[in-house]
Amino acid sequence: MPELPEVEALAGYLRERAVGRRVDRVEVAAINALKTYDPAPTAVSGRAVVDARRHGKFLDVIFDGDLHLVVHLARAGWLHYREAFPATTPLRPGKGPIALRVRLDDGSGFDLTEAGTQKKLAAYLVTDPAQVPGVAKLGPDALDADLATFAERLRSRRGQVKGVLTDQAVLCGVGNAYSDEILHAAKLSPFAITDRLTDDQLATLHAATRTVLGDAVRRSAGHRAAELKGEKRSGLKVHARTGLPCPVCGDTVREVSFADSSLQYCPTCQTGGKPLADRRLSRLVR
Ligand SMILES: [Zn+2]
Repeated sequence: MPELPEVEALAGYLRERAVGRRVDRVEVAAINALKTYDPAPTAVSGRAVVDARRHGKFLDVIFDGDLHLVVHLARAGWLHYREAFPATTPLRPGKGPIALRVRLDDGSGFDLTEAGTQKKLAAYLVTDPAQVPGVAKLGPDALDADLATFAERLRSRRGQVKGVLTDQAVLCGVGNAYSDEILHAAKLSPFAITDRLTDDQLATLHAATRTVLGDAVRRSAGHRAAELKGEKRSGLKVHARTGLPCPVCGDTVREVSFADSSLQYCPTCQTGGKPLADRRLSRLVR
C-alpha cells in the first residue's frame, strides 16, 4: 500500500513530468473508482496541470482553474506514467486493472491502476481538496509535525501505538508498512499504550518517524514512478520480513495479527525478547 514516501515521490514525479502539459482527455474505465460526478471528467479536458501535491496518503493533481483530481490508491492501487499510449482507442470500461487514464497533449499521461479483485481505489474531481471526506479529517502530516504537536496528537488518542500511529485523523501519512519500521527504529512495542508513553519514548518515536519517512522519501526521489514499489521493499527492516533476521540484532522477525491485517516486529529490539501474543489466535484456542 502506498504511504507518505511513495505518494510524495509520485507527486514529485508528476511535478517534474506533467506540470505545464494540457489534458487531452480523461477516460474512466472503473466507474466505481470515481466518487464524484460534478464536475464531470470532461471538465478537465484542455486544462493544464499546474501542480501535484500530497495530503497524507492522498495524491492531488491540480489543474488550472482550481480543479483537483484527488486520489487514494488504497492497498493495491498505483499510478503509472506512460511516455506514450499504445493506441488512441478508448479504454473499455470494466476490463483490466486500469481505473482511470489521463492523456496529456504531448502523447504521454498516466494510468491509475488497481490490482486484484477488491476495488478500493478512490478518485475525486473537486474544486477544493477539503471536499474529499478523507482529506477533510486528516490530522497533521507525520513528516512535518514538530515534537510538541506529535506528542500532543499521540496522547490525544488512547490505544495501542501501532493503531494510533496509523490513524489518519491523529497524524497522516503513515500506514501499516512504515509504522512497523518506525516502531522498530524507536525500539517500541507495537502494543504499547499511547497515554503511558514517557516524554523520552515520545521524543524517540518522533525522531524515528522523521528518520524512517525522510529516508524513504530520499530513496524514492528521482526514481521513476514504476520503480518505486521495489525501492520501498528494499529499504524495509521488519515489515513483510517475517522469519528473516533483524538487520539490527539478528533475532528473527516475528508476525502477529493486528486489526484486519498483521504486523511485523523484532522481539529483541522491541519487546524485551518476548514474543507478542496473537490475540485472535488465543481467542480461538480458548
Ligand atoms: Zn532486532
